[in-house]
Amino acid sequence: MTVLPGLIDAHVHTSGRADLEELARWGVTTGLDMGSWPRELVDEMRAQKGVARIRSATIPAVGKGGHHARMPGFPAEGVVTSPDEAKRFVDRRVADGADFLKIVTEAAPPEGMDQPTVDALVRAAHDHGLLVVAHSVTTGAFRVAVEAGVDVSTHAPLDAVLDDDTIAGMRETGMVSVPTLTMMEGTAKLLAPLGFRYEHARDTVTRFRDAGVAVLAGTDANSAPGAPFAPKHGESMHHELELLVAAGLTPAEAVRGATELPARVFGLAVDPRDRLEVEGDPAVDITATRNITAVWIGGERVR
Ligand SMILES: [Zn+2]
Repeated sequence: MTVLPGLIDAHVHTSGRADLEELARWGVTTGLDMGSWPRELVDEMRAQKGVARIRSATIPAVGKGGHHARMPGFPAEGVVTSPDEAKRFVDRRVADGADFLKIVTEAAPPEGMDQPTVDALVRAAHDHGLLVVAHSVTTGAFRVAVEAGVDVSTHAPLDAVLDDDTIAGMRETGMVSVPTLTMMEGTAKLLAPLGFRYEHARDTVTRFRDAGVAVLAGTDANSAPGAPFAPKHGESMHHELELLVAAGLTPAEAVRGATELPARVFGLAVDPRDRLEVEGDPAVDITATRNITAVWIGGERVR
């Protein structure tokens, strides 16, 4: 048996207690929510006991013409088109109690935000002491995020393996990656006709690891209507750990990417009583994280 700190999924979307119960059942005691609304729902989920704890970006900032702005139920206030709007958007997220800022960077207008708008979002968030997470699924979008000085990049490019210069830029600014390989694997299948390939995302993670860019485990688990693919809350975390190891992380590095690293990067005051017990040793065989025999949250046994 091995006792581990509770797992942290650094990219989820949660829409109610059922999602938090499912996370907890699979040993994920904290979920970093990269986009949920309205505020009342987020506050209600924060207050739940005996289930996974969440931190939330609340509403993400998206460009006017991209896929996100057209998702059913996406709030109009999430569409940000100028530096002035960027500042107001961040002020509203702070008032909503957002724990970090999430930006969707896309290649360029008319789909995505222009560089000055992304820059203004990052500046305003940093002025408020908020970490900035950027969703980037293409190499062009990665470059926008690096240029703006984003703190955390999420997803990994499907159009090509990320180039050395951009990876060097990430390392220099201390940017970390939450590649969500589970999500990239799922969406690559759907987007294959566009030339998008999972191997590009996987090989980018291999290069991050070799270049010293920290890699955190996150799945993009969601039950959102309109999302291209829906990894299951909790269970997908174990698949993500396996994909990270297949991309070149050692099992111990993958476990750190699901525990110590996200706690440190996101400044989480993690309750040391959030734990799970598994059969076997995940530092030797990563699939051992699936053999869960007990989960505790705040010292209370929930499984
Ligand atoms: Zn997401």
